[in-house]
Amino acid sequence: SGDAAAVVAAVEAVADRIQAEREHLTDLDSAIGDADHGGNMARGWAEAADTVAELDDPDVQTVVKTAGKTVLSEVGGASGPLYGGSLVFASQELEGGLTPETAVAFAETYLEKVQDRGDASVGDQTMVDALTPAVHTFKKSVETDDLPVLEAFAKAVAAAEIGVQFTVPIRASKGRASYLGWRSVGHQDPGATSTLYIMEELLETAA
Ligand code: ADP
Ligand code: MG
Ligand code: MG
Repeated sequence: SGDAAAVVAAVEAVADRIQAEREHLTDLDSAIGDADHGGNMARGWAEAADTVAELDDPDVQTVVKTAGKTVLSEVGGASGPLYGGSLVFASQELEGGLTPETAVAFAETYLEKVQDRGDASVGDQTMVDALTPAVHTFKKSVETDDLPVLEAFAKAVAAAEIGVQFTVPIRASKGRASYLGWRSVGHQDPGATSTLYIMEELLETAA
């Protein structure tokens, strides 16, 4: 379908953006981790883009599920299962295709799965800090404020940006950065940052 083709294009846009930000993400991870987040993500998303481009007349759910599976198998470390596994799991919400309702369900299920797998809450200096305000804002904008889905998503991206900034003055309590204890304060979380970049590309491709 046309929606599936748009999602394939979105995965390609994400892969390109992550590749462009590879060094920046690695720099962020070298400050509080093991300097592999840029490489991990670039490898995984490049492979995901190649794999979804080869699908024969897929539906939206298949594209998202395939991208997730590829990220899961290509990316090691914490972020592979968190990104890849949660995409695979949340793709079940897209069985009926892409509508404002399924998009909200997908976003909520994705966040729940990330929290479930990683056991992180808001304030632990992880990708959850970007995702949570984004998903909450998206849901409220669609369901309560009745905004058009693109406008709602633009608000979600703005909320994610605030979440990324929030990771800077707080201490890491999950993931490798938590080994630093108080020395993690003052650093921007790499996974929150890559989450924001991905959302920015999804918005850009959808607009
Ligand atoms: P690793 O830390 O294994 O080298 P990456 O560098 O690819 O993996 O990813 C690090 C990112 O993963 C962190 O910046 C953080 O956002 C995210 N992360 C790590 N642990 C968790 C967790 N338990 N819950 C949620 N996100 C996490
Ligand atoms: Mg790392
Ligand atoms: Mg690592």
